[in-house]
Amino acid sequence: MSEYSKIWLSSPHMGGTEQSFVQEAFESNWVAPLGPNVTGFESDLENYLQPTASESIHIAALSSGTAALHLALILLGVKPGDEVICQSLTFSASANPIAYLGAKPIFIGSEPETWNLCPNALEVAIKDRIAKGKKPKAIIAVHLYGMPCKFDEIRKISDCHQIPIVEDSAEALGSVYKGRKCGTLGDFGILSFNGNKIITTSGGGALVARTKASKGKAVFLATQARDAAPHYQHSEIGYNYRLSNICAGIGRGQMMVLDKHIALRREMHHIYETIFAGVEGITLLSEPDSGIFSNHWLSAILIDSKKTKGKNREDLRLLFDQHNIESRPLWKPMHLQPVFSNCPYYGGDVAGQLFENGLCLPSGSNLTHADKQRIRSILEKFIL
Ligand SMILES: *Cc1c(COP(=O)(O)O)cnc(C)c1O
Repeated sequence: MSEYSKIWLSSPHMGGTEQSFVQEAFESNWVAPLGPNVTGFESDLENYLQPTASESIHIAALSSGTAALHLALILLGVKPGDEVICQSLTFSASANPIAYLGAKPIFIGSEPETWNLCPNALEVAIKDRIAKGKKPKAIIAVHLYGMPCKFDEIRKISDCHQIPIVEDSAEALGSVYKGRKCGTLGDFGILSFNGNKIITTSGGGALVARTKASKGKAVFLATQARDAAPHYQHSEIGYNYRLSNICAGIGRGQMMVLDKHIALRREMHHIYETIFAGVEGITLLSEPDSGIFSNHWLSAILIDSKKTKGKNREDLRLLFDQHNIESRPLWKPMHLQPVFSNCPYYGGDVAGQLFENGLCLPSGSNLTHADKQRIRSILEKFIL
């Protein structure tokens, strides 16, 4: 047992103004899944993500990122029996909505630079699925741990085959790809505000839509698909997916500290950079070039035990654990998950190797100086 308090991988970090927005909701009795905080949070997000002065985006605040993915696939017309392409190395929430719709996930491996969707494997997969008689209905691309995926390469392939992209930006709010904020690159984008994400509403998410009409359709579906009538009339199946006005109040406060918290996460990444500089066998996930800006939601490393005198990922994870510090293996790829064992997979072994040898390190924006010293001393001990 350690005498020290627990250091978490990533924990909620309040800015201070959240409670006043929540208080306002109570005082005006907007304790409902609609109200001024919901509208305000949506416009805060729109202003923050705004691609260019002439181009606008439309955001629907929802109860979760998973709900946003589900609605994006519905709006793209995914039906039972369809196939949907999805990055394999990701959180299960990227893939689950495909199954909700009775569609079939087709998983794609990772490329070694950003650890995201491999464009080469994507192209092979699309051609093979088409040859087998079915063109995939959508491509779900993820910016893992905040690191933007190779979007231009993916877009080129998607354009060539006319398959829309759903951009899973749940971990990448504030990341930038070649001058555009992540979440605004795809045909639809999604964000998450779950407890350990870069900002939190305690639980929540958002859909980033290209047109006012598609946002309108998303909100319609998210509020039980009520037709325009004085009574409750329904011509479609709806969902209860809207964000509560209380949670949206937390989100409004969090938006005020988003850039500050990104700077703090990047500072933590920089500390890891200095610790691992010149260390054989340890690779820190880093921006491949200056056109890519990561929020560094989680700093993650890959350990090659052939170059570290046999010390591996588990050795480091257990060492951290002994000292009451949380670290975590990378996501287990979906094509290796029991629940998706029957789904096709295209790609090499990069995703599998990342799962075997990768570790996420404490990355919170609320780590104290003393926390950072504790983390550093463990890593220095491990590297020795
Ligand atoms: C968190 C996350 C989601 C789901 O978001 P929720 O708000 O938790 O439903 C989806 N995709 C990825 C990559 C995530 O990390």
